[in-house]
Amino acid sequence: MSERQILIAGGGIGGLAVALALAQKGRRVRVLEKAAEFGEIGYGIQMGPNVARMLDRLGVLRSLEPTSVFPEALIFADAITNEELSRIALGKRFLERYQYRYFVIHRRDLHGGLLEACRRREEIVLESSSEIKKFTQQGDTVSVHCENGAQYEGAALIGADGLWSPTRQAVVGDGAPRMAGHYVYRGVVPDEQIVERSRINTMTIWGGPDLHMVQYRLRGGTVMNNVATIASRRFRRGENDAGAPDELEQLFSRTHAAVRDNLRYVSRERNWVLHDRDPVTNWTDGCVTLLGDAAHPTLQYLAQGAQMAIEDGLVLAEKVAAAGGDYNRAFLAYQRERMNRSARVVLSSRFFGEWFHVDGGARELRNELARARDPENPWEADWLYRGIEPDGRL
Ligand SMILES: Cc1cc2nc3c(=O)[nH]c(=O)nc-3n(C[C@H](O)[C@H](O)[C@H](O)COP(=O)(O)OP(=O)(O)OC[C@H]3O[C@@H](n4cnc5c(N)ncnc54)[C@H](O)[C@@H]3O)c2cc1C
Repeated sequence: MSERQILIAGGGIGGLAVALALAQKGRRVRVLEKAAEFGEIGYGIQMGPNVARMLDRLGVLRSLEPTSVFPEALIFADAITNEELSRIALGKRFLERYQYRYFVIHRRDLHGGLLEACRRREEIVLESSSEIKKFTQQGDTVSVHCENGAQYEGAALIGADGLWSPTRQAVVGDGAPRMAGHYVYRGVVPDEQIVERSRINTMTIWGGPDLHMVQYRLRGGTVMNNVATIASRRFRRGENDAGAPDELEQLFSRTHAAVRDNLRYVSRERNWVLHDRDPVTNWTDGCVTLLGDAAHPTLQYLAQGAQMAIEDGLVLAEKVAAAGGDYNRAFLAYQRERMNRSARVVLSSRFFGEWFHVDGGARELRNELARARDPENPWEADWLYRGIEPDGRL
């Protein structure tokens, strides 16, 4: 075990994944999480074969299987007509192509699986109620000061502190993330409440003008995850109440009865306002670097934000192991390897947001292209699903 610890700001999916990956390389890590408990919100998350491969390397994939759901297909349908435009099969051919399956999982199950694995490693210390307020670098030492008065020193600091990352402000200093004007409503309900069951074993997306809806089951099929998103027109016009529940109803009023019906499964109590950032070319300063949403936050349209965070973790650990204690060299190599892949996710996700939300002639074109697609080839995600090997080997 190496002598000096590595500090990690944030114990979300990205922070825990990198902690585990570093521990596998014999590094001592301390994860500082501002919340009173390590945890995640109670909704679903999609996981492609690229991240299944990474979770396997972290030794947690098998333990996640009992609570995962493996849909039989990815479906894209038109929200106005409910016409099924494309169906990507997730069976044998998909597995042959990518070696790993696509699955969906409750965020708490994924985070819980990583947390359990972290707790089993003696190299990892997990500290909750530890909000990092500031850090300083002197020579090859990083000192971190927490809100609760605690101070820690380490050989390096990894900012895995999310979309509003304070670490990013110290390293990159580019202010608040970009607000997309998209608003998300979610709801997880018992499976037996679901009335329209024709696509029950699939992950279905309905795209419509300035809206889309996503549905898939979680926890062994016992609950249904429902997500309704709108690209707020009020936001674009600079009006008040952008993305409010009445705008959700208004935009969905044009959709097919089967889609409108699904709206009853999403809660109006809270919504999520989507943000991303333009990609940058440097997120490292000395022995401090960023990971996950802190480094490259993305809109959810390729469902890859958390997956990129996990991939980041494995690549970072590989570079640390190869750099023999030179953290700056390791972090620069890590960022070089992650920069274009994560930037492509950010920029492609913007495009697929448009693709889901178009109207008029663009919708006609989208639908024609979607109908013509090869059911065995998820081309928009193929480059992602083929995955990476953190040590550069394929
Ligand atoms: C609607 C929606 C759907 C999505 N669907 C998918 C999907 O299907 N698949 C997918 O891969 N991704 C998806 N994502 C993206 C995914 O949720 C994020 O990319 C992912 O959670 C980022 O993980 P992270 O660990 O980088 O950041 P976070 O999960 O934000 O974790 C950051 C952690 O840092 C802590 N923290 C913050 N500040 C401090 C501080 N000063 N000191 C200490 N701790 C601090 C926070 O409390 C938090 O625990 C979706 C996102 C949205 C909004």
